[in-house]
Amino acid sequence: MDFPFALALHGGAGTISRTLMTAEAEQNYRQALQLAAEAGYDVLRHGGAALDAVETAVVSLENCPLFNAGCGAVFTHEGHHEMDASLMDGRDRAAGAVTGIRSVQNPIRAARLVMDKTEHVLLAYPGNEELAREFGLPQQPAEYFFTQHRYDQLQQALTEGRMRLDHSEAQAPLAEPAAFVDEDPKKKMGTVGAVARDQHGNLAAATSTGGMTNKRYSRIGDSPIIGSGTFADNRTCAISCTGHGEFFLRAVVAHDISCLMDYRGLSLAEACRIVVHEKLAPVGGEGGLVAIDGTGQIALPFNSDGMYRASLSSTGSLYVGIYKD
Ligand code: ASP
Repeated sequence: MDFPFALALHGGAGTISRTLMTAEAEQNYRQALQLAAEAGYDVLRHGGAALDAVETAVVSLENCPLFNAGCGAVFTHEGHHEMDASLMDGRDRAAGAVTGIRSVQNPIRAARLVMDKTEHVLLAYPGNEELAREFGLPQQPAEYFFTQHRYDQLQQALTEGRMRLDHSEAQAPLAEPAAFVDEDPKKKMGTVGAVARDQHGNLAAATSTGGMTNKRYSRIGDSPIIGSGTFADNRTCAISCTGHGEFFLRAVVAHDISCLMDYRGLSLAEACRIVVHEKLAPVGGEGGLVAIDGTGQIALPFNSDGMYRASLSSTGSLYVGIYKD
């Protein structure tokens, strides 16, 4: 089937089970995913660029405390936030990325600035915040990024003495993030991302994350690394990943999928299946991704128990999923 334009997004992958999810929490997640999908889709519907659509969808997810990005970001070992983001334009492979963001409200916007306003691709802290200030991006104090459930996850990780992928289910209304509950602390992932194909046939991808709870030494995951967590090329596909970054970095996941399509002529679905299930899963690389190809076909593969995900195509069909089945 041909889809002139379409968008897909994720809000993290991990152990997400029906048994621990309250009806209210599930409703909150579904609503947030739908709102973000509709925001991005609106851009596409009005003839806007895929790049603007993925940025818009990611901003919506960054502004929601349910997800590990923007105001819901996880804590570092030292108890603050270091956020990473990247985006890529499939038209010309232009890209922008930031690592270690501490106060920019929407890290994906800082990544966009790197792409649009500098001759660079990846800027570290504090230079990236200097750039954001120069161009007037809204910044926030540390309290803005504080959520009790993420803080509790850090305390637990400090006790365990290890870095954690945290993506807990909300067990309470959005107004009470303190009541979030962990199901299995060792198998939680966060991160948000989006991919799109616009009416002009262009692809784009964007990813934003707080990274991993209790990360140290300015650790950087796959999310801001072009080719690992994010990739877009009109000739093949656009990809945004979520999962244990160290594995996604070593597997160069997003670019590998593009290469399988490019060099081996595989379909998007087959290329995604090989990378997610045959390459990542056997080595413990838990997670998933959202992907779209030049015809607007969408793939939402993951090897974890669940992945918060949504897609919306120009046929008007909205899909929102959380669990495996
Ligand atoms: N990939 C992200 C990282 O390793 C985490 C995630 O997707 O939850 O920083």
